[in-house]
Amino acid sequence: MQSGSDKSLQASEKQRLYSEPRIRDLLRLIVTSGGRVEPSIGQEGKIHWEIVEKVISGSELNIRDLLEHMTEAGIFKRVPVRNFILCPLDERADVLPQLACPKCGKTELVKTSLLSHNLCGYIGERSKFEGAEAGGLICPKCKREIKNEGDLRLVGIWFECMSCGARTNTPNVIFLCKEGHQFKIADLILETVYAYEVPQDVIKELRVKEVLAPTLKELLVSLGFTVEQPGKVTGRSGASHTFDIYARKGDEDVSIEVAIDSKPIDTVPLVTYFAKVFDAGIKHPVMVAVPEINEQVSILSKTYNINVITSSDGTGVVDKIRAYLSELGLG
Ligand SMILES: [Zn+2]
Ligand SMILES: [Zn+2]
Ligand SMILES: [Zn+2]
Repeated sequence: MQSGSDKSLQASEKQRLYSEPRIRDLLRLIVTSGGRVEPSIGQEGKIHWEIVEKVISGSELNIRDLLEHMTEAGIFKRVPVRNFILCPLDERADVLPQLACPKCGKTELVKTSLLSHNLCGYIGERSKFEGAEAGGLICPKCKREIKNEGDLRLVGIWFECMSCGARTNTPNVIFLCKEGHQFKIADLILETVYAYEVPQDVIKELRVKEVLAPTLKELLVSLGFTVEQPGKVTGRSGASHTFDIYARKGDEDVSIEVAIDSKPIDTVPLVTYFAKVFDAGIKHPVMVAVPEINEQVSILSKTYNINVITSSDGTGVVDKIRAYLSELGLG
């Protein structure tokens, strides 16, 4: 369970990240290419998140830290992908498993399967059934063609060492990195690597912000405001606050924050917004809530003197803000 203050910290960090141009570019790229950041292994054997590296340069560690940080802020959801086996000598991730002879240690093994023909009971290596033209299989005993793979039953497998001739059905598993380092299972480094997904509510939030914020900016500019989108304001405390939109006209100023969720907006975004508005001394704070607000938000917003505008999908917001500004004599 997250405490209330953790949640509001998370909410404000999310807003701060959204306001960073590089993060916006990154999210736009991720959302338009499937909504997921997948790890991959590069030529030099290191783990990469290629889509992130297109926008943000940095080492593997920095990129991973950024992804983790964005996950903590609620922008990504972490999805375990798989274990990566790393070489203990150079931490390369491009490691291949190898089967080795338990007797001589060489990796020159050949796998043999022992098959039984159900119709006549003949048992022999798979190679004994081969030799029919066009790659078909034929029983060397009863000479019938194997039309159905179900007529053959696997009765055993073994591995034969081409170097020392030993046969085994439990070869040793060893690993080989692209640099040629060989190591045993006891020495490998096992690392769980994650993919990062942008959850649906964040995708929705981004879409609405991307569409709504520029439209609201246009409106405010047409009404003679000087507009920043997003806008940074330094508060009385010295802290810098980011708003989706900050607009000035003479002595009057307006801030607009867009809050989006899949369920009715609760008090957390409102309280976080109020703290910023109060510190920054905004005269006319507006919160746009999509799709709706709960009862407490409605009550609290009056106490905070924040004008809350709701919209089920972001439409109609421009008209409501125009009406609000006109009421204030600013439109
Ligand atoms: Zn047969
Ligand atoms: Zn051997
Ligand atoms: Zn290595």
